[in-house]
Amino acid sequence: MSSMKLTRLLIVAVLGLTPLVQAQSQPTADLLVINAKIWTVDANQPKAQAVAVFGDRIIAVGANADVEGLRGPHTKVIDAGGKLLLPGFNDAHVHFVSGGMQLDSVQLNDVTGPDEFVRRTAAQAKKTPKGEWILGGDWDETKWPGATLPTKELIDPVTPENPVFLSRYDGHSALANSSALKLAGVTAQTPDPPGGTIVRDAQGNPTGDLKDAATDLVYRVIPPLAHDQRVRVVKRALEHAASVGVTSVQNMDPEYADIAAYAELLQSGELTTRIYAAPLITQVDDQVKIGIRHAFGGPYLRIGALKAFADGSLGSRTAYFFEPFLDEPGNHGLLAGDMHPLSLMRDRMMQADAAGLQICTHAIGDQAISIILDLYSDVVKAHGAADRRFRIEHAQHMAAKDFTRFAQLGVIASVQPYHAIDDGRWAEGRIGHDRASRTYPFRTFLNDGVHLAFGTDWDVAPLNPMLTIYAAVTRATLDGKNPNGWFPEQKLSVEESVSAYTMGSAYAEFQEREKGSITPGKLADMVLLSDDIFSIDPTKIRDVKVLKTIVGGRVIWDSSRTPPYAN
Ligand SMILES: [Zn+2]
Repeated sequence: MSSMKLTRLLIVAVLGLTPLVQAQSQPTADLLVINAKIWTVDANQPKAQAVAVFGDRIIAVGANADVEGLRGPHTKVIDAGGKLLLPGFNDAHVHFVSGGMQLDSVQLNDVTGPDEFVRRTAAQAKKTPKGEWILGGDWDETKWPGATLPTKELIDPVTPENPVFLSRYDGHSALANSSALKLAGVTAQTPDPPGGTIVRDAQGNPTGDLKDAATDLVYRVIPPLAHDQRVRVVKRALEHAASVGVTSVQNMDPEYADIAAYAELLQSGELTTRIYAAPLITQVDDQVKIGIRHAFGGPYLRIGALKAFADGSLGSRTAYFFEPFLDEPGNHGLLAGDMHPLSLMRDRMMQADAAGLQICTHAIGDQAISIILDLYSDVVKAHGAADRRFRIEHAQHMAAKDFTRFAQLGVIASVQPYHAIDDGRWAEGRIGHDRASRTYPFRTFLNDGVHLAFGTDWDVAPLNPMLTIYAAVTRATLDGKNPNGWFPEQKLSVEESVSAYTMGSAYAEFQEREKGSITPGKLADMVLLSDDIFSIDPTKIRDVKVLKTIVGGRVIWDSSRTPPYAN
C-alpha cells in the first residue's frame, strides 16, 4: 500500500469516529464491482451482488445499493453483467518456474506415438542454439500403443548438436539422449543410485530412461538458468496464472534463485501472483539460521515452509505401498533418497518444527503416507501441541487405518484432483480395486474432518482451476470410460471444491484471515468467470473462461484486452 493510501485509510478510520467531519468528506472506494453474482466462500454472507475495494483490501460486500455510497469521482467501476465472481484461486502446490519453462519448451504430453515424439523434439532442436539443453517433455507413454518407454535411439538422430533431457509428465523419470548421458558420465558400468534406476537394455546398456534418484545424474550437469532467463520464465508463469484466475500459489521446492527472481519482481511491482515458497527440507539449516517462522513475509511473497519427499509416484511405480503393485509383483515402490535412513528425515523434521517452520511432505503410496504420519506424531510427542499445520502433498493412496489419525494430527491433505481423472485411466490395473477405492479419497477426507487444500502440481498438470474443479466434481477420467465418475462416491460438490481451492488453500498457508473469501478486510483477490459453475452442467465446467482476474484490487487479467496493461 502506498503511504498516501495508508494516510487515507487512517483518515477514514478517524473519520469513522467523527460523524460531523465525515459528512463533508465521505470516503470513496478505489474499485467497485457491481451487478455480479458473488459466491463469497464466507458463511456469514455466502452470496452478494457488489464489492467495494479500497487500496488492496475489500471494504464492503453486499447489494449494489450497499456500495453505491462509496462511489466517488475516481472510483473505477466494473459492471460484472450478472457473471459469477469468486475469491481468487489459490493453488496449494505448484512448481512455478518449471511451469514457466514448460510454456517455453517442447510439449510432449498429448503425444500418442513415437513419430510425433520425434517430430516435436526435432522441431525444438531446430530453434535451439547448438550446445544448449533441450528440456521439457511431460511425455506419457501410457498414451502410446503398447505403452513402451521411449529410448535414446528414438531422439539421437534429430538432436546431434544438443543434450536432451525430457521429463515424464510426473517428473519421476526422464529420457536422456546420448549426448546428455555422455555429459552425465552415465555408462553401462554406472551403478543404480539409491532410490533410483538406470533403465538398461538386454546387454546392460542404458536406454536413456532414468527413474527417480537416477535422474539426478543428469540434472546435476544441466547448467542453472541464467538470472535474466529465470526472470523471463517467471514473467511467463505470472501471465499464465493471471489468465486462468490463479491469484496465489504455493511453490514447492523452489531453488533460492527462483525466490530471488520473485523478490526482484516484487520490488519492481511486477509480481502479480502471491507466492508462498517451500524450499527443500534438505536446506532446513538456512531458514533455521535466519530465525524466521512459518508464513514469514508480506502479502505477495512468503517463506517459512519446507518441502520433503517421502516416495515417488504411481505412474513410475515408485510410490511406496504396503503391498506390491498388481502388475509388478515383488515391487512395492521406493522410499525417497532423503528417507534413508528414516532418522535423518525425523531429525530434519524435528529441527524444522522446533524453529516454527511448516513441513509439507510429498507422500503418495499408502505406506509412505503412514510413515510420514508416524514421523509427524513423533514431532508432536516431542514438542507438544501447537498450530503447526503439517501437510501431506498428494496424499493419494490412503490405508483405511490412517484416515482418523490424519485428522487427529490436523494434517492438511494438499491434493490435486486433476491427477485423479488422469491416473484414473490405469490406476486400478496397477493397485487393484480395494486400494483404488481409497485413492484420491476427497469425500472420505472431508467426512473425517481432514482439511483439504486444492492445487494442480503445475507443471505436472495444467494450472487451470476449471480443470481441477471439473475433475473433483465429475471424477470423469480423461479416457471417457467413467462418465459418471471413477469411484463416484468420492466426488465433491462445486461449493466444496471452490472452498478447498480458496479458503482451504489459504488455511494451508496460514493465511485464512488474509484471503480465501470475499470478506471485508481481506485482500481484494477475485476472479470473474464466463459462466456460473454452480448451475451449469458439470461436464461444461472445464470450458469456463476467466473474464477478469483481480489481485489486491488491480485488474491483472482482462480477457477483452491483451496484457500487459496499466491499471
Ligand atoms: Zn509437486
